[in-house]
Amino acid sequence: MTFCIIKFFIRLQQMSDDRLLKKVYLQSKYLKYNLYKLCSTMLHEYNIELERLLVKDIKYASKFVKEQMIKYYTAEWYSAINSPTGVSKTGGNKLRTYCTFKKEFGIENYLTTITNRKYRTFWTQFRISAHKLRIESGRYEKLVANERICQLCQMNEVESELHFALKCPYYVNERKIFLNTIPLTYKNYDPVELFQTLMTSTDNICINFIKFLYICYEKRLKYLTK
Ligand SMILES: [Zn+2]
Repeated sequence: MTFCIIKFFIRLQQMSDDRLLKKVYLQSKYLKYNLYKLCSTMLHEYNIELERLLVKDIKYASKFVKEQMIKYYTAEWYSAINSPTGVSKTGGNKLRTYCTFKKEFGIENYLTTITNRKYRTFWTQFRISAHKLRIESGRYEKLVANERICQLCQMNEVESELHFALKCPYYVNERKIFLNTIPLTYKNYDPVELFQTLMTSTDNICINFIKFLYICYEKRLKYLTK
């Protein structure tokens, strides 16, 4: 949307002054809120000088704006997911796990390779911590992060995604079945390393991991709603 507005704005700038549309635009500059002000602010945000755009043809100028916007958005995205605090700046960042394995901005393969909607939705929610593990639900109980202890075992550990997936003894049988499906080399990894590898895995390993997590998550839900 923003890009379309800016593209239209560049086209207007380069239009001959005797065109009706250009005349309307020039008149509108005297209004308090106008397209010139809006687009100048937008371009400034993306660190683009209008004068530099006007000497280029519309195709080149549009391409340049698009590239700048992607660069800007990617930097913002990277900074947001790696920030220790969330958007409100008062609590911890919900994406604290996500940033440990998501290193590049872009669409993930699994969105097209995992065709089963139930698993794809679950996987997306798990990756961005939109789940009910204690590390998240504890937030609503106003517990600080290190007090969000797993209620399903005696390890006295925070119920993080890592604890749930690879450490909690409550899912030992399910985990044993899953771990038999991963490459032998993975078995030398420590839990953190293994977790990050599995979170970025593809194909069969990924789908087996998702199915395992899904089964455990259902088991957990059953236990907590008894
Ligand atoms: Zn546990």
